[in-house]
Amino acid sequence: MVSDLLRRLLEYQGFAVKHVMNITDVGHLVGDGDEGEDRLEVGAKREGKTAWEIASYYTDAFLHDLARLNLRQPHVLPRATQHIPEQIALIEQLETKGFTYRTGDGIYFETSKLSDYGSLLGQDRDQLLAGARVEVNPEKHHPADFALWKFSEDRRQTTEDRADSSSVIRPPSSERRQMEWDSPWGVGFPGWHIECSAMSVKYLGQPFDLHIGGEDLVFPHHTNESAQTEAATGQPLANYWLHGAFMSVDGAKMSKSLGNTYTVEDVVKRGHDPLAFRYLTLQTHYRKPLNFTWEAVQAADQALANLRALVRELPEEGTELDPATEEEFRTHIGHDLGLPQALALFWDVLKSDREAGEKTTAVQHWDQVFGLGLADQLGKLEEIPTEVSALVAKREQARGAGEYGQADELRSKLTDLGYTVDDTPDGPKVHRVEKPTEL
Ligand SMILES: [Zn+2]
Repeated sequence: MVSDLLRRLLEYQGFAVKHVMNITDVGHLVGDGDEGEDRLEVGAKREGKTAWEIASYYTDAFLHDLARLNLRQPHVLPRATQHIPEQIALIEQLETKGFTYRTGDGIYFETSKLSDYGSLLGQDRDQLLAGARVEVNPEKHHPADFALWKFSEDRRQTTEDRADSSSVIRPPSSERRQMEWDSPWGVGFPGWHIECSAMSVKYLGQPFDLHIGGEDLVFPHHTNESAQTEAATGQPLANYWLHGAFMSVDGAKMSKSLGNTYTVEDVVKRGHDPLAFRYLTLQTHYRKPLNFTWEAVQAADQALANLRALVRELPEEGTELDPATEEEFRTHIGHDLGLPQALALFWDVLKSDREAGEKTTAVQHWDQVFGLGLADQLGKLEEIPTEVSALVAKREQARGAGEYGQADELRSKLTDLGYTVDDTPDGPKVHRVEKPTEL
């Protein structure tokens, strides 16, 4: 969401954007370090599929969700498994410059060789490690050193083995890794960080403008991406880094063990429009934690339905929007992605007594940033059945006569029929209650 919103507002401001999003379809190890199990290989065993099938299944699910949330399709979606030669070439470059060393289980990056390791966070190695979970690997020269290439478990060699390669005994094929590749150092697979550096230089050059990610990735992932690129090329990886805050669920960290992980599919299954989730994210600034609750999704769904109802009453053709208002919108989005403020301004404009054509223009322009699909709703005023209009008229009479009890009864009848009434200075406005979109 953060990358989509950033891209949309840059494009809105007239910048040409090239958007690259990598698909990490190669397995990585469970821990933050370079130890533990490989998620893809574990998932494959659990689900009785191959690691390649698991990777392709989740890639498709992810891309399907991007579309449901109306995220603009990235221009390039490089897959890590299709860029193994580029990753190997980058490791070779690091090797030539003396930044690597070999252990029994892989090829490692020597962080002490890079004087400003950790500069992304304005911290040095020891400060970074003080707050991180780093496994003890006696073969590493420093705990912050990280794997560039890992040997497949069964291909690991002790120093004695290396002298006599015939002594390496291969386990039965069922225990062998499914994803492994040949390399100048031995059969294995890339470390966690190398794909980002290898693929970004290929598609964006270096340094590129903006690197985006979640705040949990700053260390070690982004720190190491940045370090290895700088070591290999003498150039920074990116000019600017933007990190989005985490989303929590019911005020707690989202985690498998708490059973509070939800997917876009869950939002849809509960009868909500997936764009209600998009609306929900617009209400919180990207650097503040977003708290996901089903009540909040429900409220966002209702707000989105109300927004669509307002938009449907507007004409399809817009007139010129007051330049000061347009300027105010641009100031909000230009100030560190002030989308909650921009959204509040949007509501103010729609509910104001401005000319309808001006509101239409606000929808046409600003929804390019919000991405709520509102422009399609312009001029789609619904037909109100005569039975409903009659009830509304009766309720107006009752209100006029001060019979509020009767007016309330008529309102609940309308609710039962699936309609709501808003009393506005221009008289009652009736809308059908938005039915959740079935996908
Ligand atoms: Zn990355």
